[in-house]
Amino acid sequence: MALIVQKFGGTSVGSAERIAHVARKVQAACQAGHQVVVVVSAMSGETDRLTGLAKELNPAMPARELDVLLSTGEQVTIALLAMALEQLGQPARSYTGAQVAIRTDGAHSKARIEHIDEAALRAELDAGRVPVVAGFQGVDERGNITTLGRGGSDTTAVALAAALRADECQIYTDVDGVYTTDPRVEPNARRLDKITFEEMLEMASLGSKVLQIRAVEFAGKYAVPLRVLSTFEDGPGTLITLEDDDLMEAPVISGIAFNRDEAQITVAGVPDHPGIASLILGPVGEANIEVDMIVQNVGANDLTDFTFTVHHRDYQRALGVVRAVAKELNAAEVRGSDSIVKVSVVGVGMRSHAGVASRMFAALARDGINIRMISTSEIKISVVIEDKYLELAVRNLHREFGLEGEPTEETV
Ligand code: ASP
Ligand code: MG
Repeated sequence: MALIVQKFGGTSVGSAERIAHVARKVQAACQAGHQVVVVVSAMSGETDRLTGLAKELNPAMPARELDVLLSTGEQVTIALLAMALEQLGQPARSYTGAQVAIRTDGAHSKARIEHIDEAALRAELDAGRVPVVAGFQGVDERGNITTLGRGGSDTTAVALAAALRADECQIYTDVDGVYTTDPRVEPNARRLDKITFEEMLEMASLGSKVLQIRAVEFAGKYAVPLRVLSTFEDGPGTLITLEDDDLMEAPVISGIAFNRDEAQITVAGVPDHPGIASLILGPVGEANIEVDMIVQNVGANDLTDFTFTVHHRDYQRALGVVRAVAKELNAAEVRGSDSIVKVSVVGVGMRSHAGVASRMFAALARDGINIRMISTSEIKISVVIEDKYLELAVRNLHREFGLEGEPTEETV
């Protein structure tokens, strides 16, 4: 017998029919002898709908009231799912975040979980009932309702699994796992059986939005085995777990991530003096613009080039800030482009394999794809290229590192 936390996202509980389907899945796990705690999101579209209503009445959307409002979405689904389970003859009881209790700090709309009192859940499990817990919400010290940020039900599920020391936290969604890359770009992308927390964080932050990043961080910190799987198709999904001891067993590269949201800015011909990087990036940071990759050339004739990337939406603003600085520094030129993408190969296996970078660069060169920037970390190599080469680069690298498998049906 295992203790499992099962989380069902908005699409999985998007209609009465789907809630009934979820109830049958939960019941099947109970009948297989497991103890199951369920976490649900609001029905799909509901959180957006409620946010829209709030905006109509008060564009400032007072944070405390917004949390009271948005938390109702999950309260609807816990009650409906508990009813559906009872209808099947499976004893169940719904719990709001406050009822559990999931205690958070008071930061409305981005609250952090501080403590979970698992006594009520244990009592339900011991009595043979399924606790159905509202995701995304908690309660602060003073009894105010809080929410954990969009996608926060994943974090609720992981936090409950950690508190209960569950054997597994299963995230049911509308895709059947984590893929080697986006199947819309590379139809030969393959579902991964396993991926490490670290790899998942790199993949997630680069755009595969299967899981809330905070939930993955949380699961890694507390070593909660996390599994992503489909509500609608049976299958093993993808297990996200700690790194294997035997690194040699790991594939060199686990996946290819990309990000279309970046833009590049170069300050050319700046004086090659101490402090130049902070003189340029200081004002950018002060303007609240986040910088991703940074490259500074080796100087020549006391001059150097300095290049970095920012989010698309900050591009024009960043250009403005940098132009002002460049003038003060007497820089030769400021150039930029927002028709670039970042493509990364990710894998803990590269720790034990040399030459991954050169293999990557050679594969790109074969198709005449020019690399504009490079950055590396222990388990990731990223390049910036022109956006028109995105598909070609991803497919190329996918093949180069042997990631293709059986063609999969279009997901998402
Ligand atoms: N209902 C919330 C949202 O849409 C939380 C969640 O679904 O995880 O963001
Ligand atoms: Mg979600």
